[in-house]
Amino acid sequence: MSLVKPLRLLLLGAPGSGKGTQTSRLLKKIPQLHSISSGDLLRQEVKNKSEIGSIASSYISQGKLLPDDLMAKLVVTNLKQSGWLSPDATWLLDGFPRTSIQAEILNNDLQNYKAELNLVVELDVPESVILERIENRFVHVPSGRVYNLQYNPPKVPGKDDVTGESLTKRSDDTAEVFGKRLQQYKSTLAPLKEYYANKGILETVSGETSDIIFPKLYDLVKRKFGAH
Ligand code: ATP
Ligand code: MG
Repeated sequence: MSLVKPLRLLLLGAPGSGKGTQTSRLLKKIPQLHSISSGDLLRQEVKNKSEIGSIASSYISQGKLLPDDLMAKLVVTNLKQSGWLSPDATWLLDGFPRTSIQAEILNNDLQNYKAELNLVVELDVPESVILERIENRFVHVPSGRVYNLQYNPPKVPGKDDVTGESLTKRSDDTAEVFGKRLQQYKSTLAPLKEYYANKGILETVSGETSDIIFPKLYDLVKRKFGAH
């Protein structure tokens, strides 16, 4: 699909709701789309043993959110370096903003470039489904590609389809830390949704699986931004 106007999309959703999976699918269908996942950015920093990485790892392992200003700086710097702070760029964010303070900081920055978000989609997935999914989740850290042993297994067990490199389990996907992440998400969601609802750009798509959600998400994007 080609878009008739630039899309700047935020995907909202509980941990394990499939933001990463929906992102990969949208990227395949919309050639001009780029994506940034705040969690993937942080995991790369941890892997590279950078200063931010060493701060991030203690927050991540406890299922706590990093400070708003630090996160905003990380993501906005990445948008800038990628050349996407422009009114013509088309991109999506996964995992940031996730507090209303982050939303305000980002909005102020994007306003300066006339590149504010123009669509926010909440992925609404039942909690029972999410909990089951997490146990089966494996990731390829360098790319952020996500696999599920049941629904979306890698072609070769334990290996990334594209690079052949090893897959790992996220250290924060344990029952204990995951429970905290879910609580955290619930406690910041309402004000965040309100912020975007007030701007008139909030939509919700519901479903139990990524296969049910994707066509709904894709149709929504197509209806609002797409040519064919
Ligand atoms: P999933 O990847 O399953 O959708 P998630 O949204 O909980 O789950 P990530 O987005 O990968 O996971 O984030 C992992 C961790 O990184 C979070 O638990 C948090 O510690 C930190 N983090 C990521 N994004 C942010 C953010 N916008 N603000 C603060 N902390 C963040
Ligand atoms: Mg993710």
